[in-house]
Amino acid sequence: LTGFATASDSQRLAGKVAVITGGASGIGRVTAEEFVRNGAKVILADVQDDLGHAVAAELGADAAAYTRCDVTDEAQVAAAVDLAVARHGRLDVVFNNAGISGDLTPTPVSALDLADFDRVMAVNTRAASSTVMVPRRRGSIICMASTAGVIGAAIPQYSVSKATVLGLVRTVAGEMAHSGVRVNAISPNYIWTPMAMVSMIALYPGRSVDEHRRIVDDINEMEGATLEAEDVARAAVFLTSDEAKYVNGHNLVVDGGYTVG
Ligand code: NAD
Repeated sequence: LTGFATASDSQRLAGKVAVITGGASGIGRVTAEEFVRNGAKVILADVQDDLGHAVAAELGADAAAYTRCDVTDEAQVAAAVDLAVARHGRLDVVFNNAGISGDLTPTPVSALDLADFDRVMAVNTRAASSTVMVPRRRGSIICMASTAGVIGAAIPQYSVSKATVLGLVRTVAGEMAHSGVRVNAISPNYIWTPMAMVSMIALYPGRSVDEHRRIVDDINEMEGATLEAEDVARAAVFLTSDEAKYVNGHNLVVDGGYTVG
């Protein structure tokens, strides 16, 4: 064996172009940073304009641009894809990362607010366009699921939406296998992001930020390591890279063993 050649660690995505939804904050933002560090160009598609523009400016105008894009609006998603092609002439990866939790009041499924349920499903489960990738017979779509979709979780509409993402990934991956476009999911456990902070305040009221942070760390199983957004970003880099050229329909769980008992 002579081993296999891989691009140098810092340039694993050289020449690739990505649309990252929810790219203004949390995991999406850290993934955008990791993508750019690895040589990719990114379009941050989000609804937080000030933050999105600031993150894009930090990453540099050559590597990153922000566009307002509500992922529930098909035309806005198409416009984000068009922007990637207009700026860089191609699109290699869409990271469907934007997500919301919905109402965090502990509620049984039978009492769910249906408007809230519908909103969470709309934001969390709509897939982005692959129309640009199919003719090139190359591309990677990554959908953000969650351990909440692998096992049941306390927030039913969120859990159901993430389980739906996993079903969607399997279905679309099979459908697109012959097109050369790969479709995979990533399922992280709790990570300390703005979304997690809001969840913690609702689920464990009356505690300090430090206590909330400790609860998140305690939920995660591995001793001596903390689950961070960077761990998800690196999983996304792998799924995007040519090293994953035959990985399709997979759910890459990033949880330190939480869901295996
Ligand atoms: P976050 O709140 O920091 O980031 C989510 C981003 O999505 C925000 O910038 C928000 O503006 C954007 N967004 C929300 N609705 C949108 C819409 N309609 N259109 C476009 N953008 C929209 O949260 P995060 O923790 O970074 O979450 C990112 C993804 O990771 C979500 O899908 C979330 O469900 C998933 N996830 C998070 C955790 C965690 O513990 N933080 C664990 C598993 C999965």
